[in-house]
Amino acid sequence: MGTYIVLIGVQGAGKGTQAAILQDKLGLLHVSTGDLFRAMKTQDTPLARKVQEMMSAGELIPDEITNEMVRDRLGQDDAARGVILDGYPRNVGQAEFLDKLLAEKGEELAVVPILELDREIAIKRVEGRRYSPDKKRVYNIYFDPPEREGVDDVTGEPLIQRDDDHREAVERRIDLFFDETAPLIEYYKKKSLVQRVDADQAIDAVTVDLIAAITRALMDG
Ligand code: AMP
Repeated sequence: MGTYIVLIGVQGAGKGTQAAILQDKLGLLHVSTGDLFRAMKTQDTPLARKVQEMMSAGELIPDEITNEMVRDRLGQDDAARGVILDGYPRNVGQAEFLDKLLAEKGEELAVVPILELDREIAIKRVEGRRYSPDKKRVYNIYFDPPEREGVDDVTGEPLIQRDDDHREAVERRIDLFFDETAPLIEYYKKKSLVQRVDADQAIDAVTVDLIAAITRALMDG
């Protein structure tokens, strides 16, 4: 039996960071559908071109494509011990597909941890991000500002903000997340799989709580 986990968290909650740490600590494979789709950028097939267009338009990829990609990834050898899914499922249809897919393998979801973060804090974490021009250093104007406003500590060059990190776009993405995931959380609550973790803490503290939540669920299950 493998350990299958769906990690849910708003942008800014540290989902990618925590998934990478869990991959190391628990020896589970981190599967991010966003990463898998981004990797298709280097391919030149009709499907890859379609995916690229939809991603740049900020649209979700159709379920049939997404589901088949996940089926394919979970069927590979390195997924046999279990997987931390990140960015998938995004709606109830995908969640139902995942349940069926796991059932076909004689597996089931172990736990759905939710990294909880206030809308306002999530917005500040993402909108406040600033990078040194070489992208080597990242600051946050609210939580981790540079020594001198607007410039890199090391080179003194002006800091830059990602195009899609301006406030309106960030608010739109974050609100979309809450709209998208509310029904998903309900779906998993009915199955008693949800474990809430406070994401408004230092990275290490979130990891400790997350591992405790996963362990609790595995012992109960
Ligand atoms: P993410 O990195 O999770 O924000 O995903 C980046 C983009 O990949 C999204 O805006 C979608 O276009 C696509 N994508 C990722 N995961 C899914 C999914 N589960 N369903 C549909 N589209 C997805």
